[in-house]
Order: sequence, then C-alpha cells, then structure tokens
Amino acid sequence: MGKQGREIVGMNVGKVIELLNKAFADEWLAYYMYWIGARVVVGPHRSKVEEELVEHAEEELEHAEMLAERIIQLGGTPLIKPTDWYDVTNCGYEAPEDNFVVPILKQNIEGERCAIRVYKELLDTLRGKDDITVGIIANTILPDEIEHEEDLEAILEDIKLIQKKRG
Ligand code: FE
Ligand code: FE
Ligand code: MG
Repeated sequence: MGKQGREIVGMNVGKVIELLNKAFADEWLAYYMYWIGARVVVGPHRSKVEEELVEHAEEELEHAEMLAERIIQLGGTPLIKPTDWYDVTNCGYEAPEDNFVVPILKQNIEGERCAIRVYKELLDTLRGKDDITVGIIANTILPDEIEHEEDLEAILEDIKLIQKKRG
C-alpha cells in the first residue's frame, strides 16, 4: 500500500496484519464448514437448510476477500497455505461428522458466535488508535455474522418445534 496510507494507521501495522490474518483463517474455515455442510446435510427442511448454508458460505468468502485486500494494502501477505489456517484460527473448524441437520446447525451457530466475538474484539482493539479501513471492514462484516447466527437459530427453532409437535 501507499506510504501515506500506511503511516496513518495509528497502531503497529504488523499487529493489524496478524489480527486480520487470524480472521482471514476463520473465514476460510467457516466457508468450508458451510460449503461441505450444505452438501452432506440430511434431515427435515434439508433443501431450505442447504440453501441457507450455501448462501452463508458465499458471504464468508466475501469476508475473506475483504480481509485479504486490506492485508495486501498494509504490505502483508494473506495466509498462502491452508495448513496455516489451523495454526492461527480463533474459531477453529468443526467437521460435520454427524450430518444430521441439528448438529450441523449447532456447529455453525457456535462458529457464528465466535465470529461475532472476534469482530467485536477487533473493533474494541482498534478503538482510538483506529485503523479506519479495518474498522470499516469489521463494521461491515459484524452485522453479517449477527445475521448468520440469527438465521441459523431461527431454522433450528422451527425444526425443534416440528419435532415437538410430532413427538
Ligand atoms: Fe464471516
Ligand atoms: Fe458468518
Ligand atoms: Mg442468511
């Protein structure tokens, strides 16, 4: 990125890049969790769930793109090896070993809760010593993660209601 653009970052640029790369790893792992979950999921409302998971996967990928762009602007390199994602991730990766819709939704809800905490923390860290651009990115991504959590909770709630009525 341009010299002046880097100079106005009010905190250690290396530290900002590190935080962004951690979030970048989270986004890729979240992307794959959704992508593979959409393919293997079975159970009630399968096609509705599949559709939602695919949509979220696409949005996580957009988040990864936003983070990568900013990492490069700051003079850093987005993680170039998938094995690095595991090393730096905040939120980890839960394989959908049980592919029934309920555990898959629960795993992804946990992932979203973690993502919400990560972006909230990033915003708190930046407050005052503002990297304005990262602030804008985190402020853009955070509402998406909040929406993701809400969407999945709503589906899970409906599935539980149906199960209760049948049982
Ligand atoms: Fe995301
Ligand atoms: Fe999300
Ligand atoms: Mg959604």
